[in-house]
Amino acid sequence: MKILISTILLITLISCVNYAEENKYLIIDFENVNPHDSTKIKKSKKEWREILTAQAYNVLIEKGTERAFTGKYWNNNDKGIYYCKGCQLALFNSETKFKSGTGWPSFYDRVKTNVKLVNDNSFGMIRSEVICKRCDGHLGHVFDDGPNPTGLRYCINSAALEFVSE
Ligand SMILES: [Zn+2]
Repeated sequence: MKILISTILLITLISCVNYAEENKYLIIDFENVNPHDSTKIKKSKKEWREILTAQAYNVLIEKGTERAFTGKYWNNNDKGIYYCKGCQLALFNSETKFKSGTGWPSFYDRVKTNVKLVNDNSFGMIRSEVICKRCDGHLGHVFDDGPNPTGLRYCINSAALEFVSE
């Protein structure tokens, strides 16, 4: 009997841990986080590792790029807001999303107060890196072959975003 109870307890415990792992930052915490306040937040790499999934950490902190057509949002056509996976700041609106055929979520405009552009000369290319203004997390790059009205294409990693439909 004792063994049975211990086994049940153990199974319950394991499933709780798995649940927490899968749901890391999947829900935007609007009650405690202002998605429009771009006041800087600083976290150590260790702190980021604790709250981000491995893939989000790779993109936001290590400036990685997810493989095309593998992300969660390249083909998402729902209406809503895309928030930063790191700090939950509002970054892009579905109204400015367009089909680019690249396999990454593409926008022709950004939430200007919350998304910052910086020069990136890595890999022998001159590009503009797109980062979150609040946590400095890497989001992707911007190119000048986008549609009207801006002519820009913000090429963003799904792993850096959390979408909330309207
Ligand atoms: Zn952020």
